[in-house]
Amino acid sequence: MRAVGLDEPFFVRRGEGAYIEDVEGNRYLDWVMSWGPLLFGHGDRETVEAVRAAAELGTSFGAPSVTEVELAAEIVDAVPSVEKVRLVSSGTEAAMSAVRLARAFTSRDRILKFAGCYHGHVDALLASAGSGVATLGLPAILVEPVAGNMGVVPPEPGFLEALRQLCDASGALLVFDEVITGFRIARGGAQERFGVTPDLTILGKIAGGGLPLAAFGGRAEIMDRLAPSGDVYQAGTLSGNPLATAAGLAVLRRLRDPAVYEELERRGARLEAGLAAHGRVQRVGAMATLFMTDDPVRNFDDAQRADAERYAALFRHLLERGIYIAPSPFEAMFLSLAHGDEEIDRTIQAVADFDG
Ligand code: PMP
Repeated sequence: MRAVGLDEPFFVRRGEGAYIEDVEGNRYLDWVMSWGPLLFGHGDRETVEAVRAAAELGTSFGAPSVTEVELAAEIVDAVPSVEKVRLVSSGTEAAMSAVRLARAFTSRDRILKFAGCYHGHVDALLASAGSGVATLGLPAILVEPVAGNMGVVPPEPGFLEALRQLCDASGALLVFDEVITGFRIARGGAQERFGVTPDLTILGKIAGGGLPLAAFGGRAEIMDRLAPSGDVYQAGTLSGNPLATAAGLAVLRRLRDPAVYEELERRGARLEAGLAAHGRVQRVGAMATLFMTDDPVRNFDDAQRADAERYAALFRHLLERGIYIAPSPFEAMFLSLAHGDEEIDRTIQAVADFDG
């Protein structure tokens, strides 16, 4: 909240659909949506019922369960490059495990990542990017295929294809961090939408339906190196947790219906069209950012040149009107199926009022 000139966060009491309510009873139209997991909105009935039913049977086993296998099958069916998948508890954990696996598979050390991309809070992945010249000798190139952590920055045409070629030429693995984009911009994520196939994929957020769950997966040949079948140790006490897998399944099963993505696209286009008069809108499917600039934002430098003060003022203006967008200009608005035309139009109107 300090980033947008406020002293204190509000404390949330409950959520319903596209709305949250704080402990003082204020109601906000929520565009943050727990930073992406809630594709069907807060308190989604099917998710809540699935979690309740699972909890009745026990909250953690530390042993294989059927829902864990069912969720893995659902992920493998949805995400084009994923032949095998390992469930973990957070996106950070998935990213660090995928990097560890890539290092072991290639017997190489230093990975390449990009400025403005976020892959969780593990030390090695918080480092800023290097020059990115030499891919020879690298185990992996790690990228958000659509950047979501510098605001929404879609890949330039040919960018993902070029990364694929660099990896093929150098023997490095291409790792897509689809923690945000997975199940959001298409059922199969960015790799489905852009038709570029990574070697490993990191998933989180929507995959766990709003409970603590994430995953990483890829070619069987690589995943087979993981313990217990392989030599790369990986484990987690709460991995494949029955509540989280039940929530994930309750969400992912509904994503087989193409109407989900058609509707998200329609609503996203409505939001984009309405906001376009008030800044630079960049959107891919159900993720969008209103940048406080007129220029295209193609990378982190461009994103940092946008007017942060103006964004902070917009944030405060909207919050006073009961609309909660991310308290940082380097984030996305996360559209859900609980955001109807009314919510979209109200947001557009409030932004227009700010512009005067
Ligand atoms: N990767 C990306 C692309 C993310 O956006 C995030 C979190 N926003 C992470 C990884 C880390 O996930 P988590 O917060 O679950 O550790």
